[in-house]
Amino acid sequence: MSTSLLYQAFGIRGGYEFVRTEFVEGEVVLSIRQKRESLRCSHCGNRHVHVKTHEHRAFRGLSIGSRRVWIHLPIARVACQKCQVVRQVRVPFAQERVSYTRAFERYVLELSAYMTIQDLATHLQVGWDLVKGIQKRYLGKKFARPKLQNVRRIAIDEVYIGRGRRFATVVLDLDQGAVIFVGNGRGMEALRPFWRRLRGSRAKIRAVATDMAGGYLAAVREFLPDAVHVFDRFHVMKLYNQKLSDLRREVYRELTDVLHKQVLKGTRWLLLKNSESLDPKKRERERLDEALELNAPLYVAYYMKDQLRMFWCQPNKRAARQFLNGWIRLAMFSGIRVLMDFAKTLAKHRSGLLAWYDHPISTGPLEATNAKIQLLKRQAYGYRDQEFFRLKIYALHLSRYALVG
Ligand SMILES: [Zn+2]
Repeated sequence: MSTSLLYQAFGIRGGYEFVRTEFVEGEVVLSIRQKRESLRCSHCGNRHVHVKTHEHRAFRGLSIGSRRVWIHLPIARVACQKCQVVRQVRVPFAQERVSYTRAFERYVLELSAYMTIQDLATHLQVGWDLVKGIQKRYLGKKFARPKLQNVRRIAIDEVYIGRGRRFATVVLDLDQGAVIFVGNGRGMEALRPFWRRLRGSRAKIRAVATDMAGGYLAAVREFLPDAVHVFDRFHVMKLYNQKLSDLRREVYRELTDVLHKQVLKGTRWLLLKNSESLDPKKRERERLDEALELNAPLYVAYYMKDQLRMFWCQPNKRAARQFLNGWIRLAMFSGIRVLMDFAKTLAKHRSGLLAWYDHPISTGPLEATNAKIQLLKRQAYGYRDQEFFRLKIYALHLSRYALVG
């Protein structure tokens, strides 16, 4: 085999020559050796070296059709005159401490865009761990330290990642759509390394979207004092829906009339729906109306939900402020406890709600990322390796190496 074919077909270059080909049990073994004149000290590059011994190694190379190919090479240990030390020479066509060529590794990465780890392992007749190892090293190099310098608008949210109440806190760059941080657990502790990295990067964050949970308010004020903090609209409505469910449960408990109870039963999902998504074929509107007529507080709370959504449809910030104040006032006058509590929460977070009119951002894009994470989790059974899972999350915004487990 010519030197040029060794290079073109198997990615082997840098002073090697072909020795022979053997066929062993359906596999191809290519023996090569390094030319004497290309031996160098791996430390100083000196060419004045003496060969002491050889270590015989086999590297998995690109297959020929379905036949596995092994590259056999005696690797020289040489004594360098300058360093006065005996060392093994470098093998440029393979990474250190692995038993496959760089060409093989590139091939695995290319196929990773289309195949699962298991598919790849079966197809290439290698172990699952080997494929995973190649992906992990690639992702590690690419995503170990995402560049934060140019990040301007971010969203932060908690993501459920597994049994036993395991959570991750994920930060998304809203302009690039890329995950830039995955913290262990939830709460402010999980974000600590992120703030540190952010400070180191000198990024000028202009806006942050989070839910209204307690810790974020203080943390953003402390670590991003110049950023506008926007409370995510979807979380606000989700919280309201929870309150609405609580109220329905309360009302249900207090009802004594069996017929009334029956009317209210099964209306929880109807209450959570927005009025325009009620299904006319299933008479959802009628069923909801029947239930609401039974109970004035429930009726008011449902009506107020439809109203609250309009907060994000105001023509400008000034109108939005008036609208919000009006809503809060109505809720306080309603005399309905859950509504009053919610009004107090909104009043406390007024500026973060209004901030949406300066930066109309939300954690919505993180929901999409979350959905991908859940998919990733289901597809893969090797994610006991937390670090690998974390790297896969970083890679989610790329179409390649992203979704295929
Ligand atoms: Zn040397």
